[in-house]
Amino acid sequence: MFSFWNKKEKPNFNKDMASDPARNTSRQRRDAGGEEKFGQREKFDQTVMQNFHDKDIEIIDYLTEGILIFDEDNRLFSVNRQIEKFFKIRKEALLGKTIFELDQFPNLNALISFLGKEIHKKGKKKLKIRDDFILDIMVIPIMDTGNRTGALVVLDDITYKEIINKIKSEFVDLVTHQLWTPTSAVKWSLQMLLGGEFGNLNKEQKSFVEKIYKANDKAIKLIGDLSQVSQIEGGRYLSDMALSDIEEVISSLVEDYQKEIDKKRLKLEFKKSEEQIPKVIIDKAKMKIAIGNILGNAIKYIMPGGKIKILLRKNEKEIEIQISDTGLGVPNRQQKRVFTRFFRGSNIIQKDTEGTGLGLYISKSIIEAHNGRIWFISEEGKGTTFFFTIPLKKEFAEFITGKFY
Ligand code: ADP
Repeated sequence: MFSFWNKKEKPNFNKDMASDPARNTSRQRRDAGGEEKFGQREKFDQTVMQNFHDKDIEIIDYLTEGILIFDEDNRLFSVNRQIEKFFKIRKEALLGKTIFELDQFPNLNALISFLGKEIHKKGKKKLKIRDDFILDIMVIPIMDTGNRTGALVVLDDITYKEIINKIKSEFVDLVTHQLWTPTSAVKWSLQMLLGGEFGNLNKEQKSFVEKIYKANDKAIKLIGDLSQVSQIEGGRYLSDMALSDIEEVISSLVEDYQKEIDKKRLKLEFKKSEEQIPKVIIDKAKMKIAIGNILGNAIKYIMPGGKIKILLRKNEKEIEIQISDTGLGVPNRQQKRVFTRFFRGSNIIQKDTEGTGLGLYISKSIIEAHNGRIWFISEEGKGTTFFFTIPLKKEFAEFITGKFY
């Protein structure tokens, strides 16, 4: 994202310190017999920081992101001006403080509790610091020949972006809600018409009404998908978390799709591992949408008589589900875009005009919200296999409603 050190000047915490006897790190000094003198340590830090500041601080001060750089002992080595603005604390008060000492500043509590005591892990997270202040936090460990020599923390103020997203998502909610009622009423009336409740239709009338029915159904599907996307992008994903049986979710989906499966004369095999598959804490309704989209695609993008296989198994960490089909596949050059919004493969776009291109984006978001992973392999004209996992641990991180954004 940015580079404020050129190669020559880049401070290499371990090497710089090791090569200069006056610049031993506290760990090295402890290893050498624990003769660390507090005064020396202070002096050392000041020298290192001073050198760094003179050269680089002006550059990092221009960044719109807030920057915190910790040394290997998790002592704050440098910060830029944005940090002062973000947290309303003068940087002189922060520099040289350990992560424990920084936790004494109430304005920093949320950030420090996310960083943890060690700042070891590389990670990215959206964090609500105050009601009117949301940060995107990125932690990058600084490594030198396999050893961690510090950590870079980059804070991006995304409050404004989040407000816009919220307004957008409230607008989409309102529109989808308003469209839902009339389209459902049209569907219901057309069903009655087709069912002969108002007298028999002749062939031409029936075919015409069926076309309207299909078009209306497409609108209903689009409204449903848009409503899901709006929930995803508004960070309102998982709400109803409960211990659930994933095998039961899949079986009920197969039942829901049985009519289409029979109509296309598909051979569907659902293979479960012999081991007992444990229940997992999931938002069952959302997970049903996620798996339903993948299974629905396998049924949609396959020629009559094709084969679909569902495989359910587990390892010690997660449940893995595979859904493979002998269908149309995704062209190689388009595979990168499969999980992006509104993507539809060039090989199916003419054959199937019903899709919205939102299904897999929704599935991926839901699975990842459960800390799962999703990927696929595909060959055009031969078939596709989607793989996804659900962790057995109860970690759902930032997506559980109400906890974080
Ligand atoms: P939709 O099905 O509404 O078009 P999706 O997001 O569910 O949207 O899928 C995006 C695209 O990915 C599809 O249009 C299709 O080109 C491709 N795709 C997804 N699943 C399969 C599959 N099982 N076989 C072939 N193509 C698939």
